[in-house]
Amino acid sequence: RSGYIAIVGRPNVGKSTLLNRLIGEKISIVSRKAQTTRHRITGILTKDDAQFVFVDTPGFQTKFSNALNRAMNRGVTTTLNDVDVVLFVIEAGRFDAKDRAVMKLLPPDRPAILVVNKTDQLKDRSALLPFLASVAAEHDFTAVVPVSAAKGKQTDELLGEARKHL
Ligand code: GDP
Ligand code: MG
Repeated sequence: RSGYIAIVGRPNVGKSTLLNRLIGEKISIVSRKAQTTRHRITGILTKDDAQFVFVDTPGFQTKFSNALNRAMNRGVTTTLNDVDVVLFVIEAGRFDAKDRAVMKLLPPDRPAILVVNKTDQLKDRSALLPFLASVAAEHDFTAVVPVSAAKGKQTDELLGEARKHL
């Protein structure tokens, strides 16, 4: 199995940290300029039974103030329509207008996994489930996976969920 995976979310939710964690030691480094026709490849994870190709969504903007941003976001939507699965990353306990704006760009016909990062930062763990439920009520996610990219918690579970869509 092999497929394309996009990691999206507002700045600072931990997308880069997550990508580094997922790829870990097994990285097949690709050039920063590596391109397929439609994607910029940011990393490849090759496991015994599956290959995960992570791709960028260039020009992602969460401000909708002008026509240029709107046009760039159309580009993002096209890119996302072309991947096998989207990882939509948010921070545990925080879901704001910028998160919601990104969520609205998720393609309706592609599987999207809600990745709730920074669970290590949670002070009140009992708040996690209601938080997940409130976000999941706003979009049709194929799975919800709480993780800590920084600590490497639940990231294998996340890969397992993503693998189902390759
Ligand atoms: P990006 O802008 O979405 O790519 O976010 P980064 O990967 O650059 O992370 C933004 C900040 O969040 C950095 O200071 C990271 O160290 C921090 N961060 C990322 N993942 C975690 C996590 O799981 N737990 C905690 N506590 N911090 C994290
Ligand atoms: Mg980043």
